[in-house]
Amino acid sequence: MIEMIPEILKKDKFSKEDLVTLLSANETDARPIYEMAGRIKKEFVGNKVYFRGLIEYSNYCSKNCYYCGIRAGNSRYARYQMTDDEVLEAAKFAYENKFASIVMQSGERSDHRFIDSVDRLLKEITKLSDGKLHITLSLGEQTEETYRRWFESGAHRYLLRIEVSNPELYKKLHPNDHHHDYENRLAALERLRTAGYQVGTGVMIGLPFQTIEDLADDLIFFRDFDIDMAGMGPYIEHKDTPLFRFRGDLLPLRDRFLLSLKMVALLRIMMKDINIAATTAMQTIDPMGREKALKVGANVIMPNLTPVKYRQNYLLYENQALHRRRSRDLPVLP
Ligand code: SAM
Ligand code: SF4
Repeated sequence: MIEMIPEILKKDKFSKEDLVTLLSANETDARPIYEMAGRIKKEFVGNKVYFRGLIEYSNYCSKNCYYCGIRAGNSRYARYQMTDDEVLEAAKFAYENKFASIVMQSGERSDHRFIDSVDRLLKEITKLSDGKLHITLSLGEQTEETYRRWFESGAHRYLLRIEVSNPELYKKLHPNDHHHDYENRLAALERLRTAGYQVGTGVMIGLPFQTIEDLADDLIFFRDFDIDMAGMGPYIEHKDTPLFRFRGDLLPLRDRFLLSLKMVALLRIMMKDINIAATTAMQTIDPMGREKALKVGANVIMPNLTPVKYRQNYLLYENQALHRRRSRDLPVLP
């Protein structure tokens, strides 16, 4: 395998087979991949790291994805929605500390009250930062009208992970109903693009039933869709979710982390100038995970700006609480 890697890396465009070989490389064999990704990053996006402040706006969710700790069916967490003042305080902090952007993330809701609240906040944040703080949303699937309305009110970037690009695998990870439909998710990504957003997407890595071929297809999906931003990281199990019963079939956490590093590096080689996040899930597994991801191609980190009192109720996966206690994220808002 080691002999094939430098040859594959010389190609202008990787085939699925090439990607499977590269993703299968062990840590020693993968070094040339990391080195090349590091060089490309430096040349095309420079050494600058952008801060995208994460605001976990609400943990109310109408959906029931089988992997996620804040799914509607989990009654363990107290549900919350941050007040307008709390969101504006976090946005002000980001603006005053020269963050490139903020991302408002939450469970998926499409009721009018929620849509209006987000709209109001977008206008306020735009006003307080004189339109200079970029606003990214990660609020799930919405109608074209909602996406357009939020765009006009000041959000110009949107993150919506496809989660997995294999429709059959998607079915295994979600309830099989209209509310959790692969084609709908894909259509939502198209709507975002039509509405004018810079579109970010991503996948989870190391899921039950997922193969290396699936991950190779995910990378090809990103390239074909010509995404502007990516956020991908290891799947980490949560004991209050249906997928937890497959924990015995998972790769060890360390391997999921290393596979995620390879995914980041390969995406940087394939899509030289896009924004790639070093995700929280990577840092949850390895305390230096974020730094390692930056070294092999990522250029965005997402410090958490959510008030501390809400964080124990926004746990998507196990160990997130542990990570949050030892995290050096800035700042600690009350
Ligand atoms: N509700 C919106 C959505 O689903 O697009 C945005 C918030 S959702 C919590 C953000 C991301 O968390 C999802 O896209 C998913 O990839 C990730 N996530 C959920 N459960 C996870 C888990 N157990 N391990 C790793 N990532 C997870
Ligand atoms: Fe809700 Fe998003 Fe979690 Fe799915 S991944 S249950 S939509 S918060």
